[in-house]
Amino acid sequence: MDAVIEVRNLHRVFGKLHAVNGVSFDVGRGSVCGFIGANGAGKTTTMRMIATLDYPSAGEIRVSGYDVLGYPEKVRSLLGWMPDHFGNYANVTVLEYLDFYARAMGFRGKERQMRVQEVMEFTDLLPLAGRFSDKLSKGMTQRLGLGRALLHDPEVLIMDEPAAGLDPKARVELKHLIRLLAKEGKTVFISSHILSELGEMCDHLLFMDGGRLVHQGDAESLKDRGQEAGVSYYVVHVFGEPELLFNWVEMNPHVSLVESLKKGGKVEIDSSDPEKAAYVLSRMVSDGLKVIEFRREERNLEDAFIDMLEDVGRGGGAEIAATPPSLPS
Ligand code: ATP
Repeated sequence: MDAVIEVRNLHRVFGKLHAVNGVSFDVGRGSVCGFIGANGAGKTTTMRMIATLDYPSAGEIRVSGYDVLGYPEKVRSLLGWMPDHFGNYANVTVLEYLDFYARAMGFRGKERQMRVQEVMEFTDLLPLAGRFSDKLSKGMTQRLGLGRALLHDPEVLIMDEPAAGLDPKARVELKHLIRLLAKEGKTVFISSHILSELGEMCDHLLFMDGGRLVHQGDAESLKDRGQEAGVSYYVVHVFGEPELLFNWVEMNPHVSLVESLKKGGKVEIDSSDPEKAAYVLSRMVSDGLKVIEFRREERNLEDAFIDMLEDVGRGGGAEIAATPPSLPS
């Protein structure tokens, strides 16, 4: 993989709290990479260190090959940072806001006008040019933040929880903008605590829990963990009383009831082998259950994520283990 962000054995300690605990990963150039974890998992802290806004307690971060501690200015020129919250100013219009930041970044004259115009076009802010920046909706504010982060045309965009608090329409617009950025060849590293928000839009997902990276892969690989674990799920509808199905499940050792439904139930079969599942299902019929529907149930991403966290909690699945180095006092 041509990695544009390389993180190696990263640690951040706040007093007694090990907020980031031996995290290593790569983000591929031109990819959209999702960073998932519950509140307090350590996502913002990791992103802030990548964006040169905080210092690692130990470990290494490179952006396009540049070490963030050795070359912070260079790294800042390569990165656009969109924090989860940022301040707007009273009585400053959208145009003035972006123009101010373009000036602060060193753009002058025609070039500055062009940069501001370009990001306003991209983020669809032109119709709002004269609107005061502190009087925007949440969705418009996010687009303004995105515009600000894109002013210097960075290679890599880091977005911390950009979809939080957005209504469904604004979310769709945001996803569209992110896909457009990816099409232009930019790398987008984006965090959320809601997996379904990122699942379909990311090429790669990183999962953090309690300061550690607990899984990485695409959305399908997360779902497949359940399959590897050797179980499969089926919704079974029966004609007549669903209790007949529940009783049958009780009598059969390789099947268990996960959820009772109006017309039957969702069952777990202790194998992901389709032949074994077919055998179990055919037994239901040959034992006299009047089955009117079998449906294989895809596990949704949230279920897969929760299962994975439970697995890690049991000490079963942490894929990236790291030995904490001796930390500076
Ligand atoms: P959220 O989705 O809530 O933003 P997160 O995954 O981004 O969560 P972080 O903000 O990175 O999590 O926080 C990780 C842990 O580090 C939390 O327990 C947080 O309280 C703590 N933390 C973060 N910054 C500091 C700081 N400057 N001083 C002390 N503790 C901090």
